[in-house]
Amino acid sequence: MSKYWSPLTAALEPYIPGEQPKDKKYIKLNTNENPYPPSPNAMAAMADAINEDLRLYPDPNCESLVVALATRHGLQPNQIFVGNGSDEILAFAFASFFDPSKPVLFPDISYSFYKVYAKFYGITPKLIPLDEQFNIKVEEYVGEHGGIIIPNPNAPTAILISLENIKQLLEQNPEQVVIVDEAYIDFGGQSAVVLVDSYPNLLVIQTLSKSRSLAGLRVGFAFGSAELIEGLNRTKNSFNSYTLDRVALAGAVASIEDETYFVEMNAKVIATRERVVKQLEELHFLVTPSAANFVFISHRSIPAKQLFEQLRAEGVLVRYFDSPRIDNFLRVSIGTDEEMDAFVTALQKLTVQ
Ligand SMILES: *Cc1c(COP(=O)(O)O)cnc(C)c1O
Repeated sequence: MSKYWSPLTAALEPYIPGEQPKDKKYIKLNTNENPYPPSPNAMAAMADAINEDLRLYPDPNCESLVVALATRHGLQPNQIFVGNGSDEILAFAFASFFDPSKPVLFPDISYSFYKVYAKFYGITPKLIPLDEQFNIKVEEYVGEHGGIIIPNPNAPTAILISLENIKQLLEQNPEQVVIVDEAYIDFGGQSAVVLVDSYPNLLVIQTLSKSRSLAGLRVGFAFGSAELIEGLNRTKNSFNSYTLDRVALAGAVASIEDETYFVEMNAKVIATRERVVKQLEELHFLVTPSAANFVFISHRSIPAKQLFEQLRAEGVLVRYFDSPRIDNFLRVSIGTDEEMDAFVTALQKLTVQ
C-alpha cells in the first residue's frame, strides 16, 4: 500500500500469472503454452518486419490482420477487432458491454482474470456454479443481469459446451452481451464464430497464444456484430490507438494464413493429449473430458497439492489452484510427447502405492 496510489489502484486485486521460474530448467506444463514453434512463415515475416519502417507508427486499424481474419472466417472487416492479447480485448469488452449497475454472470470455476476485470470496473460478479461434473448449467444464466462471459472450452476444467448451448445462452439473453472466450477452441471444439451473423449480442474472443504458438507476441481477436466491434474500438481508442506493433502484425497475418501448419500442429497436440489421458486413467486419475491443450486431473488418493510439490521437485511444473471445489485438481498443459513421457514417468514414481 502506498499513499501515492489512487483509490482505484489501492482497491485492485491483480491476476497472478502462472510462474515463469528462472532458477532451473523445468518441464513447463503450467501455463498452457504450445510446445511447438510458431509457423515458420510467421517467423520469417517477423524477421522481415524488423526494418527501418519501425520508425513509423503501425497501422492503428490493423487492417492487414483484420482482412486476413475476415477472409479466413467469411466475415466483414467491421465484424472483427484485434488487440494486444485476448486479455486486453477482455479488458476492453468488460468496459464496453457490461453495465456496472448490474451483476455480470460467469461460472464459479472459470478464468480467474474475469474477477479481476470485474473488480477494476466496479462490476459485481454473480458466480453461477458448475454442476458436480463441472459442466456449465446454461439454463441458469437468466434473470436481471448486466452480461455474461464464459470460456469455451472452460478453463481450468477443459470441458466444452456445444454450439446448441451457446445458442440457448444467446436466445435466453437477447438484451445483454454474451462473451464466449475461445482461447482453447482449436483443440477440439466448434467455434461460435459461425453464429456471429445471426446474433448481434455475441462476442467471440480468440488468441494466437495457444493454438498458434505465439503467446510471446501478444495478439488476440474478437468477432461480433458491427455495433459490438465499434464499441470495442471506442474503448480501445480511449486507451491506446496503437495496440499492435508492426512486427506483431506481420507475424500474426502470416500465422493466420498458414492453415496447413496450424492444422498439423493442433492434430499433434490432440493426439498427445488422448494418449496421456489413457495413461493418467491407468494411474488412477480422474480426468475431465478435455477439448483443450491441457488436462484437469485429480488422483484417487494422493492430494493434488502434494503431487504439485513433488512434481516440482522432480522438475515438472504444473498448475495448482488453491480454490474451493478445485483444490484437489491439477491443470497440466500438453507438451511434446517427450515432455509428457517424463511427466507420466514422474507420476508413476509418485503414485506407486
Ligand atoms: C490464455 C487465456 C487467455 C489469454 O490469452 P492471451 O491472448 O495470451 O492474453 C484468455 N482466456 C483464457 C480462458 C485463457 O486461458
